[in-house]
Amino acid sequence: MRARRPVIKMTGHELHPWRPEGSIPSPTHPLPLLKDSNVNHVELDNGHFDESFDVVIAGYGFGGGFAAIEAARHGAKVLICEKMPQPGGVSICSGGGVRCATNAEDAFSYLKATNAGTTPDDVLRVLADGMAKAETYVKELVAPIDGVSVNSTEFSGKHGGNYDFPGWPTFYTTQVDVPASFDRTKLYPSVRNRPSSGGPGLFWVIEQHLEKLKVEIRLQTPVISLIRTPDNELRGAVIDGPSGPRRVAAKRAVILACGGFEANDAMKAQYWEGKPVLTASCRGNTGDGIRLAQALGADLWHMWHFHGCYAFKHPDRDFPFALRVKRLPDWNPTRKNDVKVPMVWIVVDQHGKRYMNESPPYCQDMSHRPMHFMDSETMRYPRIPSWLISDERGRRTYQLGDVRTNDAEYHYDWSADNQKELDLGILQRAETIEELATSTGLDREVVAATIARWNAQCDHGEDADFGRPPGTMVRLEPPFIFGQVWPAVSNTQGGPVHNSRQQIVDAGGNPIRRLYAAGELGSSFGHLYLSGGNIAECVVTGWVAGREAATIPAW
Ligand SMILES: Cc1cc2nc3c(=O)[nH]c(=O)nc-3n(C[C@H](O)[C@H](O)[C@H](O)COP(=O)(O)OP(=O)(O)OC[C@H]3O[C@@H](n4cnc5c(N)ncnc54)[C@H](O)[C@@H]3O)c2cc1C
Repeated sequence: MRARRPVIKMTGHELHPWRPEGSIPSPTHPLPLLKDSNVNHVELDNGHFDESFDVVIAGYGFGGGFAAIEAARHGAKVLICEKMPQPGGVSICSGGGVRCATNAEDAFSYLKATNAGTTPDDVLRVLADGMAKAETYVKELVAPIDGVSVNSTEFSGKHGGNYDFPGWPTFYTTQVDVPASFDRTKLYPSVRNRPSSGGPGLFWVIEQHLEKLKVEIRLQTPVISLIRTPDNELRGAVIDGPSGPRRVAAKRAVILACGGFEANDAMKAQYWEGKPVLTASCRGNTGDGIRLAQALGADLWHMWHFHGCYAFKHPDRDFPFALRVKRLPDWNPTRKNDVKVPMVWIVVDQHGKRYMNESPPYCQDMSHRPMHFMDSETMRYPRIPSWLISDERGRRTYQLGDVRTNDAEYHYDWSADNQKELDLGILQRAETIEELATSTGLDREVVAATIARWNAQCDHGEDADFGRPPGTMVRLEPPFIFGQVWPAVSNTQGGPVHNSRQQIVDAGGNPIRRLYAAGELGSSFGHLYLSGGNIAECVVTGWVAGREAATIPAW
């Protein structure tokens, strides 16, 4: 049964508590008080419960969904509580690509290298082994569903891991293909993503399994507190459903699958250097799972690490989502010269200078990182925001923005010819270098020199400054099309530390009894991300947490 309420009740999160007025935020200005998630309460078991389940899951994205399937298959009576009015979290608007591996040992070697000592081997082993089994699992899930198949022939031309670490060729991607009759706009009207994105299809598969398994799902029902005994063993959760707060017993366990903290400006400001970082996709992910776990003494990891890129801002400052730059195919550093897709822009800082390779191997992951630099003399972030400069030919080449959101209230569809964005002022036009300098406030000489140097490097086919792949380099000619870009987070990796059984552990390394994590909440990715890695992690951690939670003896 799905409970629906007409009004969104956000727990402790305001849309944009931090709204910088000027274009250049300065940390020397006092920050307004940033509001955090307020679901950090913990209550003592007083013997009273309004209802009882074996397993209570907080969050209904892929992590919560896979965990629920597995727990229910092991005989547990499962309740999923989702805070937002629509299900799916970030998951449903994702590409839906699940990273799989042909060989678990190679996958382990790669994961170990990409995590640079931030994640223990036994945790990475479970993920690597799971990646080697993930395709079979997804096939088994889709088998009973008419017209659905699994496409494992890699999508977007990708193959292998994103970086040149041992084991990288072992990876490929599995995606669910849905029948033509699958109408995502009707089934999931809150979702905006590319028609080819696999997120909605995979979510639909999960939904069908949960219905068959009789898992109860309540929307607009956040978990607001955890209930524990005096010696810190979990007993249940307080949920804030349509009829007000209820104390729900979790006779076996609670699984936190609340996603990350990309929509919590206070946490972002505390944990990340560059400010502000815009949010890409989902307002529900306000770090509640982190606060709930912390209240029971959980240790945290990987809080600094997030998956993101650079993005435009909507002119309505209440619009909560970043408008990400267009996604171009990823490339592995071993194949740099094979890259053949033009990127029709450069990015310059507030001095008018380029400062990075605008097309790193995985642009939707790493390209925000060089933006966080602070100038220690001016105490400013001279790269936040930056200017993206393209030209009229670039405008006509393809759409420059890429918006993927899951929200019942806020939508934005980027126009194919970028004209709507020019009309809205997200992009601007300058006929000459002089006009470009005047409109941006950049020094004319500097920006002219930057563009001249860029064009000369394009003619030589080599970016001697930042090593951008030659196949992406395109000259810029007036008239120019330009707009401001900020760092944007797609999803975060930080959260409570978990062990290889998905038990959340405290600062002493001891499992907090009956408390588990699934999905990106406290992800294993602690240094460099692997495209498709988070959904693979949802599959694997969902299996593990669901099975563990369902099979622990009831209290
Ligand atoms: C545009 C985009 C594309 C992506 N594409 C890919 C891809 O192709 N492959 C890949 O591997 N990864 C991809 N990712 C990342 C990946 O989608 C996510 O990391 C993953 O889906 C997260 O799943 P999750 O279940 O942990 O969190 P979510 O799907 O975000 O679900 C968490 C849910 O918990 C809810 N919640 C929060 N607090 C509470 C509370 N107190 N009580 C109850 N509910 C709560 C939230 O509202 C949310 O619905 C992409 C991300 C984005 C933004």
